[in-house]
Formats: sequence, structure tokens, C-alpha cells
Amino acid sequence: MKCIYCCIERPDEEFTDEHIIPRQLGTFQGRRTPPDPITIRICGTCHSRFNALENRIAVDSWEGLTRLRREEAGSTRFQFSGRVQLRLIEPGIYHGAHVWYVPQGRRYVPEMRAQAGFPDGDERIWVPFDQMRSLADLELNRYGPDDVIYIVAPTEEAGNAVVAEIVRVVGSFNEHGKMPPPPERPLVEQAFDVGHPHRRWVAKIAFNYLAATAGRDFVLASDFDAIRAYITHGKHGPGLGPRPVEIITEQDREVDVEDLQWTDQHRISVDWRAQDIVAQVTLYNDITYEVQLCRYFRGAPPRIAATHRYDVRKRRVERLV
Ligand SMILES: [Zn+2]
Repeated sequence: MKCIYCCIERPDEEFTDEHIIPRQLGTFQGRRTPPDPITIRICGTCHSRFNALENRIAVDSWEGLTRLRREEAGSTRFQFSGRVQLRLIEPGIYHGAHVWYVPQGRRYVPEMRAQAGFPDGDERIWVPFDQMRSLADLELNRYGPDDVIYIVAPTEEAGNAVVAEIVRVVGSFNEHGKMPPPPERPLVEQAFDVGHPHRRWVAKIAFNYLAATAGRDFVLASDFDAIRAYITHGKHGPGLGPRPVEIITEQDREVDVEDLQWTDQHRISVDWRAQDIVAQVTLYNDITYEVQLCRYFRGAPPRIAATHRYDVRKRRVERLV
């Protein structure tokens, strides 16, 4: 059998199941009636290469965060590296303060990060503790002992660390007062950016899906070499458009942290757009990515239109088109 990613002919036993939707985003029991889009077979070498990519995305992406909030399987703790930012948007002293999610029993709940709020006109600039060292350029030294700097932290120890850091840069405080408790059910604004590995990861979902629905032989055509090289090696060759993976929904918006109903499904579809093949991948019913899988297909175009819905809650997959 030929692998659809490296295109190397290998014995069947060197192949392994690859999930269309990475398992970190839910597990599904597919229906056995073909075409079953749950898995495709790819070679072990490509499979382990993708594992590294997937593990990285799982802990550092908007989808990874949504997975946490949904309590999806996986022991990996989310790492807030800066790609995903969550801030309180209610008016008041905590406006703009940073939160993240921490485990509480079997759930993940929002918690205020250790941070300091520096005066900025009528507002405050909230800076998380772990970003303070690199933020000498925030001009912390323009704050003097008369400025009121707010400090919040989940523990006293974390709060002391913030104070020590500020004293180091600013000099000293006049006095320590007590902050009012932060809101229990905060309204949070999420913002995130999607890096290059993330786009490759989305492109892989789309290409896996095309392989599962249109067939292995079809996607082995050289028309797909460009997207293959992009997914496998991150190579952005001339056969691809300027943006092979685009986000076509809003990235910055308000979310109600308690309302998870809207995150109940993924949806993937693929179809022709003139001579191009374009897939749409909607994860957790929220962000939609558009993936250009092929530009100017040269052969006779077969029918490939397909749409599947992955119901995360019921762990079911349904073909819609
Ligand atoms: Zn391979």
C-alpha cells in the first residue's frame, strides 16, 4: 500500500490508523456503513511525525483550551504560552485582567492569574507575572511610589512573587490594601492566534477527510503534492495559494465560560470550487477554517462533495452530504 503522505509503497503491516479528527478533540464511534470517515491508514513514520504536531497543538491552541473546558480525555495540562489570551471584560477594576483555566475536581474553571494592574489613564494595564521579566519595555520604571498598582494572584505565595518583582523594578509601595474578590462567573473575552503548525494541523484534518471520502487513489494524484508537502514538512511551495489555510470566522469575541452547548460538534465538508478543491473544517461548532487542498485539478473532476458531522457529546459521526 502507498502512504498518502510520504507516497512510499510499504507492506500493509507498517500502516496504522490515523483519525480524521485528532483524538484529543473527542473520540467517536463511527458507523460501519461505508464510507466510514473516522480513520484512514497511513504509514507508521508519518503517523509518529504527526503525533508530535498534534501533541503540541493540543496544549497550545484555542481547540486545546476548548477541549479542556469540555473535559475531553487527555492528561496533558494546557500551557498558556500566549497563543490564547483570556481576559475579563466586565467593567470595573478587574477589566482586562487575565484568567486561565485550572483543574477543580473533574472540571476546569477560570482562575485569575498572578498579575499586576498598572495605571493607564482611567484604565489599567494588566500584566501576568510570567510576562513581567520580558516587559522591562512596558516602562515599569515610569511608575513611582505614588502610583496605585493592583495585584491579584490565586495564592499568597504567587502574590508575594508579583510584589517582589514590582519592588525590584519600581522601587517600593506606599502601602498594601486589600483587593475586592474577583467575580465568580466572569465574562471572558478570548483572543488567540493561529500559527503555522496549527494551520498544517488543520490542513491534515481536511486532507485526511478527503482521503477518507474520495478514496486513497484519488488523493495520491500529483495534484495534491503541494498540500502534502505543506502538511508533512511545512513546505509552502508554489502549488499552494498564498494562504492554504484561512480562518473564516471571528477570532476575537466574547464567550460565556459556562455555556458549552455550542461546542458540541465538529463539521467537515469538501467540494469543488471551480477547478480547486476546498474543505471547510469547523471545530467545536465555532471556528471555521477553509483549506485549499488543490489548485487547478488537471484530471476529469470526480464527484467528491461530502459533509460529516462529528457529535462530540454523543460520540457519533453522521454523514450529511
Ligand atoms: Zn507515510
